[in-house]
Amino acid sequence: MNKSLRKAVIAGNWKMNKTPAEATALINEIKPLVADADCDVVVCVPYIDLFAALEATKGSNIKVGAENCHWAASGAFTGEVSAEMLKACGVEYVITGHSERRTYFGDTDVTVRDRTRAALDNGMTVILCVGEYLEQREQNITMEVVRSQTKIALAGVSKEELDRIIIAYEPVWAIGTGKTATADQAEEVCKAIRELIAELYDQEAADKFVVQYGGSMNAANADELLSKEDVDGGLIGGAALKAPDFAAIVKAASK
Ligand code: PEP
Repeated sequence: MNKSLRKAVIAGNWKMNKTPAEATALINEIKPLVADADCDVVVCVPYIDLFAALEATKGSNIKVGAENCHWAASGAFTGEVSAEMLKACGVEYVITGHSERRTYFGDTDVTVRDRTRAALDNGMTVILCVGEYLEQREQNITMEVVRSQTKIALAGVSKEELDRIIIAYEPVWAIGTGKTATADQAEEVCKAIRELIAELYDQEAADKFVVQYGGSMNAANADELLSKEDVDGGLIGGAALKAPDFAAIVKAASK
């Protein structure tokens, strides 16, 4: 009923792939294919590719994002990049809380909250990832997990700031596995996230809040997933590295 209040967002998460030269080539391939998109198009790329991506996307409808950011503005954090630094480069989007950061690099609900805060304070739009492990789904605690991750990450976020937050529901068991959640499973959790936004803020905020699904979304299954009422776009890993596949998902979101 309220889907028309929201513009879909399709964001690529390139993970640890592509050199700067390869990033330029991929963006140049994607650009003409998504030029008439009726949704927002974002590519989140490795730090090392940000300048190449910002240059290659100039004058196009593609926005550039980073895959993570640190919570402090600067300091003794070897190997990290701050939200302030990203902003200074012209980066507009940043992913926080990706399950690969939580699983392999010790990100917790609290550090995800702090990274999200830093990104918001620096004027960026955050793609905040939440989602359950397979064992949690099997224990029937998906909603508790997703609600708790969301509540902690949004602590201190104002209603106005919500305009710069997108939540990507990404069941961990579906990421990079080729195992997609069914459209009904995706809808059930995306809807619950929207209901939580209504609970924490109000119905107006919930109606315009963008909730993406991520987890093996591809050219073949995008139509069905994106047709669901509460699925407002996708965070795309593997398929974002192939221009025709990414463009097909953008096309599905533009319908
Ligand atoms: C992701 O990395 O956020 C993701 C959804 O990956 P994939 O599409 O490859 O499952």
